[in-house]
Amino acid sequence: CGIVGYIGHREAYPIVTKGLRRLEYRGYDSAGVMLYNEKGINLCKTKGKVSDLEKKAKAELDTKGTIGIGHTRWATHGVPNDVNSHPHLSNSGNLAIIHNGIIENYAPLKEELKNRGYTFKSDTDTEVLVNLIEEIQKTEKTKLGKAVQIALNQVVGAYAIAVFDIKNPEEIVAARLGSPLAIGIGENEYFIASDATPFIEYTSNAVYLEDGEMANIRLHKPIKIRKIKDDSLVTPTVQELQL
Ligand code: GLU
Repeated sequence: CGIVGYIGHREAYPIVTKGLRRLEYRGYDSAGVMLYNEKGINLCKTKGKVSDLEKKAKAELDTKGTIGIGHTRWATHGVPNDVNSHPHLSNSGNLAIIHNGIIENYAPLKEELKNRGYTFKSDTDTEVLVNLIEEIQKTEKTKLGKAVQIALNQVVGAYAIAVFDIKNPEEIVAARLGSPLAIGIGENEYFIASDATPFIEYTSNAVYLEDGEMANIRLHKPIKIRKIKDDSLVTPTVQELQL
């Protein structure tokens, strides 16, 4: 399973799909991408290989956009099929998430969200998390980063996630606990991936998130890393990657 994200000035689609191929060695049963452009969020996902995703995308996806996230899934909750594939959207359609890992307490969280009127398309634990984030954004009136942080403090499990909010489309929020996550730092562009192989051809500078850390990755701004638990800021350690 793997995660790829891009925010910058290049077309995101080829970077994300090529990146997903590089992560194929990690194993997976489904793949999907989300691209964002001025027309909104465009999603394409499928059971099968990255090559199946590319075939489907060719037929039906508006691949334009300089921000995108992609995922290869190794199903833990819900069978491998198109609907359970990531990215998952929140009920409003504003948030998109990709997730590697498991949300162990998804069942009670899902019940609570259902009681508040949320509906679910998939059987995944991940769709619960993205709607929990949306609900927190609404009730606490917070921005994405804060809502992700509050949500992750209610969650038991393991994750590497990347979350996108259409209301703030110059940002991706990423976090990790128990699953790896690397951030590639280019010039006016950022890459996110399970390991550095998807972005090594674009930049040799990377920050590896530690367990329990989250990052606000914003265009034209330095990345901000903080501890999910206590909100303390972490000074990013930029590593030089060797080709
Ligand atoms: N638990 C999530 C799911 O089943 C993510 C699986 C993964 O790590 O790819 O959809």
